[in-house]
Amino acid sequence: MVTDAQSDVNELRSNGQTMRRGQCVARRGSEVVSQVSRCTMNTLLVLAAVLLATPARGQDLSGAKTLSVVPQTEAQLKELIKLFDAGQYDFWREPRDMGMSVDIMATASQVQELTAALERSGLKPQVKVDDVAQMVMRQNSGVYSRGARSLDWEDYHDSYTINRWMAQLASDHPDLCTLETVGKSYEGRPMNLLTVGKGGADKPGIFIDGGIHAREWISPATVTFLVNQLVTNSSAHDDLLSSVNFYFMPVINPDGYDYSFTDDRLWRKTRSEPASPGGCSGADANRNWDFHWMEAGTSNDSCVDNYGGSAPFSEVEMQVVRDQLTRLRNTTKVYLTFHSYGQKWMYPWGYTAALPEDWQDLDRLARDAVGALKAVHGTRYQVGSSTRTIYAASGGSDDWAKGVAGIKYCYTVELRDLGTHYFTLPPSLIIPSGQETFAALKVIANFVKKTYSD
Ligand SMILES: [Zn+2]
Repeated sequence: MVTDAQSDVNELRSNGQTMRRGQCVARRGSEVVSQVSRCTMNTLLVLAAVLLATPARGQDLSGAKTLSVVPQTEAQLKELIKLFDAGQYDFWREPRDMGMSVDIMATASQVQELTAALERSGLKPQVKVDDVAQMVMRQNSGVYSRGARSLDWEDYHDSYTINRWMAQLASDHPDLCTLETVGKSYEGRPMNLLTVGKGGADKPGIFIDGGIHAREWISPATVTFLVNQLVTNSSAHDDLLSSVNFYFMPVINPDGYDYSFTDDRLWRKTRSEPASPGGCSGADANRNWDFHWMEAGTSNDSCVDNYGGSAPFSEVEMQVVRDQLTRLRNTTKVYLTFHSYGQKWMYPWGYTAALPEDWQDLDRLARDAVGALKAVHGTRYQVGSSTRTIYAASGGSDDWAKGVAGIKYCYTVELRDLGTHYFTLPPSLIIPSGQETFAALKVIANFVKKTYSD
């Protein structure tokens, strides 16, 4: 069944342009060219040529470097957390525990200062990415597609392509799929929920989302891979599909996600307008949930990457996901939210180092899942609570799903890799990532079937 999933897509896309009905809008960095009235083909072609020649822009990355450190003492970890909380630098991998790598990007003017600050704490910073601009450029000049004809997993795709693919899939497999447009993003992009299953609405469910952080492209790519495996190879999973419902929302921050294709490859937040004058756009969608909101690992400075928003659920996209989780909470047993990078399968709490009462249940299932994952390509994932020692981050979706919606098995998964390619994981690794993650999902789905359906 296809509901009005695509009816709201009044956009034609071509090479990163957004053309709304009756209007031409081309984005090029912060510069917006807008012509209300006629859109002639010539204009489109000229704009396409300009955009093709212009790499995605945003912050100035020339001379930017990424430094890595491994805190060895609690004092060093505390210093890193202080630095993280100050919000001056873009932490690609946040400080979590002693012995665990932290990756920090510094712009050209910050490199010296950051190096000195780290060395003062006795840390030994290593330059891991010598030229961030070059790294980003490499991926942007690759063959990833905007507005491609169809979805594949040899490339990364924008939200429009993903939505169109989901609509086609639902229309091709009406016995298995239900696609609903359940909301709209701040900038008006449709937010779709795809339900896959044939056992009826009262069967136990697994809710899976991706793309909450814009720049983590492997997340939507992996989630759509999981969808595709289940649906196009359904005869192999007949048993599961009769007993379990899978709820998919592959791109829950579509404005930020598309912005990371067109303007700023390293964008993390949503794209909402600043709540107060002089502020910056967007909030960290994974600090915006109303459960111990703004308590730890988050900032009230809108210009910082982990800005928790002007209020809990200030971001409309998170309201949309919240409403679906609420609607489905009685049957949903597992919540999976995909991020990158770091290869971690984490469970609550994020806001405190205390563990949930039933953490051993969550731990056991996670270990079974990563065991199956590893058997596919040998990729190792670490299992544990989101808060290992003294670093906490509150307002995350997994904490809310467990603490408020009451879903028992909630996991935040940091997908590949361990800091070789950072957020710019080569497209050739999408399929391996999808294959191994699907093995983990099968373990979880079989567990749900056995525990709640048989
Ligand atoms: Zn993330």
